[in-house]
Amino acid sequence: MSSPLERMADFDLTDQQREVRRTVREFAEKEILPHVERFEQEERYPLELVQKLPEMGLLGPMIPEQYGGSFSDVVTYGVICEEIARVDWVVASVISVSNSLCAGSILKFGSDAQKERFLPGITKGEIICSACLTEPGGGTDLANMQTTATKVDGGWRIRGTKVFISHAAHAGLFFLVASVDRSQKHKGVTAFVFDPREVEAGLTIGDFPMRTLKRDNLAEVHFEDALIPDAALLGEPGGGFPILGSALDTGRFSVAARCVGQAQRCLDLALPYAMEREAFGSKIGGFQMIQQKIADMVCRTEQARLLVYRLGRMKDAGVARCSMESSMAKLCASQAAVQNALDGMQIFGGYSCTQEYEIGRLLLEAKSLEFGEGTSELHNRLIAEFALGIRNQ
Ligand SMILES: Cc1cc2nc3c(=O)[nH]c(=O)nc-3n(C[C@H](O)[C@H](O)[C@H](O)COP(=O)(O)OP(=O)(O)OC[C@H]3O[C@@H](n4cnc5c(N)ncnc54)[C@H](O)[C@@H]3O)c2cc1C
Repeated sequence: MSSPLERMADFDLTDQQREVRRTVREFAEKEILPHVERFEQEERYPLELVQKLPEMGLLGPMIPEQYGGSFSDVVTYGVICEEIARVDWVVASVISVSNSLCAGSILKFGSDAQKERFLPGITKGEIICSACLTEPGGGTDLANMQTTATKVDGGWRIRGTKVFISHAAHAGLFFLVASVDRSQKHKGVTAFVFDPREVEAGLTIGDFPMRTLKRDNLAEVHFEDALIPDAALLGEPGGGFPILGSALDTGRFSVAARCVGQAQRCLDLALPYAMEREAFGSKIGGFQMIQQKIADMVCRTEQARLLVYRLGRMKDAGVARCSMESSMAKLCASQAAVQNALDGMQIFGGYSCTQEYEIGRLLLEAKSLEFGEGTSELHNRLIAEFALGIRNQ
């Protein structure tokens, strides 16, 4: 018989979705988890781990079979993101950046040529995707971006700098947003997809030094009048903001699902420790103040999971944009991941700060998810504006 914790997580999944959870968890615990700490210590991008994903069909859950994907429903996609994030932030990020931001945008707004060019390579693990959105001047106010795209013979000249860019140094696809007319604010924003390895001059991908997630090799990407081809244009000039909105809507779902996985991991680490560690001659799990933290962790994880799965079901039911629900899921799940990491650390005491235990690493990784794909402040604002009727989509 399953435990109450397993029952909650699986209660309203279909048999097929449960089976996906079981196989992905087994794969993740066997093939990814044992190696993560080594990559973090060596500050090395876990390319070998990413390359294990295609054999399980995990690089294309949102990509149709005609392009080699394993095209699943949205809830299943969330379960995959959750289970992989439970063991590694970076590998889960590859799945969500590829499927939500990049492949999702190409499928919805791209030409047939762009679909043929990129999607099969993404599903096979030959093309790693990178989304170049954030700039040194800010990541929240994207309508105010400084990077420009100027039309010239043979393509577009890109000038500007993007920072915090995950996967960039390993990427075979850049999803870039730049402005064709900065005076037009969001109406000037334009989206491009191209292979950075084919840009002949003017593109540098440098290290962006981080205190955490060193294995992600975050990059500063600098465009000095780099020429990208006409074929890189995604949609229309000036039509990038709706593309970005659609990409972030799905992106927020997958990031929220990843946060549920991280919140769950904190709980999975804290439970056995609380039943093993002793103080004053008793297991610390017997102390009420530790039990309070455990109860909070269980409730937070489950509340976040419910919001994420419900959002997935809305998307599966064909609700076109679920922006308010996306913001609610992303806000609550990222805060659950951070708070569970904090409570988990308290349960581990001083050992949470040692390299022997994973829990301390999870705190900064969870915190970074409170920034990506919209900060908590942005989502609070969006939720309030929807509730007040100031915003309706
Ligand atoms: C590990 C990691 C990986 C990342 N990967 C990528 C990536 O692959 N691609 C990419 O493009 N970016 C990436 N980012 C960047 C991330 O998306 C940005 O950090 C995020 O969008 C916030 O932008 P910012 O850091 O410039 O903060 P800012 O936009 O400068 O905001 C600073 C603070 O002000 C608050 N604020 C801003 N506007 C308002 C307002 N109107 N009201 C109230 N508060 C406000 C914000 O919420 C925040 O608390 C990554 C970041 C991290 C940490």
